[in-house]
Amino acid sequence: MGKSATKRKVSVKHSINISNVLVIGSGGAGLRAAIEAKKLGVEVTVIGKRLKEDVHTVLAAGGVNAAFGNVDSEDSWQQHFADTMIEGYGLSDPKLVEIMAKKAPKLVKEIDKWGANFAKLKNGKIDQRFFGAHTYRRTCYSGDYTGRSILMALLKKAKSLKIPIFDSQYVTEILVHDNISFGAMTFNIQNGERTVFLADSVILAAGGHTRIWRKSSSRRNENTGDGFYLGLKAGCELIDMELVQFHPTGMVIPEEMAGTLVTEAVRGEGGRLLNKNGERFMKNYDPNRLELSTRDVVAMANYTEIVEGRGTDNGGVFLDISHKPKEFIVEKLPRMYRQFLDTLMIDISKSPMEVSPTAHYSMGGILIDAKKHTTKVEGLYAAGEVTGGLHGANRLGGNSLAEILISGKIVGKEASIRSLEMKIQQRSHEIIKKAHDKIDSLIKDGNEVARPLQRELRNIMWENCGVVRTEKKLKDGLNRIDTIRSCLENLDVRPDSEGYQDLMLAFDLEGSIMSAGATILGAIERKESRGAHQRADFVNVMNDFKRNFTINLVDDTLKVKSKGLKKISKELQSKIKKTKKIVNYEGMLLE
Ligand SMILES: Cc1cc2nc3c(=O)[nH]c(=O)nc-3n(C[C@H](O)[C@H](O)[C@H](O)COP(=O)(O)OP(=O)(O)OC[C@H]3O[C@@H](n4cnc5c(N)ncnc54)[C@H](O)[C@@H]3O)c2cc1C
Repeated sequence: MGKSATKRKVSVKHSINISNVLVIGSGGAGLRAAIEAKKLGVEVTVIGKRLKEDVHTVLAAGGVNAAFGNVDSEDSWQQHFADTMIEGYGLSDPKLVEIMAKKAPKLVKEIDKWGANFAKLKNGKIDQRFFGAHTYRRTCYSGDYTGRSILMALLKKAKSLKIPIFDSQYVTEILVHDNISFGAMTFNIQNGERTVFLADSVILAAGGHTRIWRKSSSRRNENTGDGFYLGLKAGCELIDMELVQFHPTGMVIPEEMAGTLVTEAVRGEGGRLLNKNGERFMKNYDPNRLELSTRDVVAMANYTEIVEGRGTDNGGVFLDISHKPKEFIVEKLPRMYRQFLDTLMIDISKSPMEVSPTAHYSMGGILIDAKKHTTKVEGLYAAGEVTGGLHGANRLGGNSLAEILISGKIVGKEASIRSLEMKIQQRSHEIIKKAHDKIDSLIKDGNEVARPLQRELRNIMWENCGVVRTEKKLKDGLNRIDTIRSCLENLDVRPDSEGYQDLMLAFDLEGSIMSAGATILGAIERKESRGAHQRADFVNVMNDFKRNFTINLVDDTLKVKSKGLKKISKELQSKIKKTKKIVNYEGMLLE
């Protein structure tokens, strides 16, 4: 802090872009939504802050779920429903899960036809493999680049439909008047030019917030939680923000790669976890399944070894596959072999890897209606990882790629119907001016820089709201975040020939701070350990907490409320009861 900030002169002119449906986010969910809208005959525009070919969806590897029963004919959408509810520790919205499980086969087949080119069986049907916690082989895949192949197929389809997609457009505000959305304000990250995108319906598909943890499987400048903040500012409610999936094995070094995923397949193919004393510690946490235990149990074990001082000097544990022949490793784990050789010059057929848990997926997010994916704001819809409610307290692997296709199609349709039926659209110059004022207020000289503050926030989330939480640590975390918040007014934001990166980082930081606050508040309220949410001071699953927590923004302050769960039909309840517990995950671990 120190000397007060000086305002910079900026131009407040903006261009205008008008369409029926505006989609914020060019990831899988946003693109699928836009395609549906265009097919229904409305004009649709897609905007995203990242390059459309390099959105977070490209990282998805293992596969996408659909209960075709191509390999295990006993599979059914009802079993997919049951597996999802069980893995989510009962907190999922059953209607959302039912819709996903029912619709997945049709939409996975469709994206395959559009060019995703999934692996096929000899009979020409889509191949399916095991993914942890599925009763049957249900996961469809294209090698270990399923997310990329889905995204490329969607981009090809969008191009053929001539859907305009604008990259480098940073949305600062969803424009809302009288609780009705009418567009979004953006600036161009390269040149600062502002655009008001006017639309009858707005779809938010801006991804999650796992980059706000020090160790994260997301990359720089993605999943910073700005999607949640955009929703909150517009008037949406968030649900179950405390539920964040930690993957047990992310890279520890080099610094810039910390958190990058080390595939679960290493454990699936026989990798052993060792502490610094060479002890195979999983025998103390799950003596039967050892390294093949569930994701949450292994993440907890790794974390406990590290915090109790049995970790490596770099703050990890060892994952060793070097007892297997080199040919086996190169054949079964080619990406991992290359990843460690390229970044650390480590030959994993000779030396162990160092790994630690990494923040991987935001189960919580914007509260939506299960059937139409409407939010609390009229005309504003949400889809993909930015939403909450489908995955409960732990995401079943492969369900997120199914979600982006299904929720994308639903919002595309519903947003278009709204537009087609609309008689009048209100636009408020005052609201547009306020959005300009907000951007202007950030562009100024100051003596705080966003990147280190973002780094400090990531440290706080890791230390105070990480794999294992306590009330004391969570409350300390909130205080530490307040200190960062107090630095915001002194941020140095200077657009220059290099572009408007500073401004983007300033908005990202605000979004991250608010998402972090919402996550910690939810984590304080959930006084139990359930799925991915582990509390050292409340170690059991508690019946009293079989409920959801919602959060909204009132006068710039986050408010938490508790909400009862939705009912499950008798038929589906009985499917859940009949589902057998999986005791051996061998051959099931992928990503
Ligand atoms: C390493 C890894 C592996 C994974 N593997 C699998 C898997 O095998 N199976 C599976 O089901 N799931 C997997 N997942 C999860 C899955 O990839 C994601 O949940 C999913 O791709 C999210 O898609 P999305 O469209 O909701 O969001 P994203 O792909 O994150 O897209 C978000 C979009 O919003 C834009 N955006 C964000 N903020 C703004 C803003 N302020 N202004 C403008 N634009 C903005 C971004 O630029 C982007 O275009 C994996 C995740 C990781 C990290």
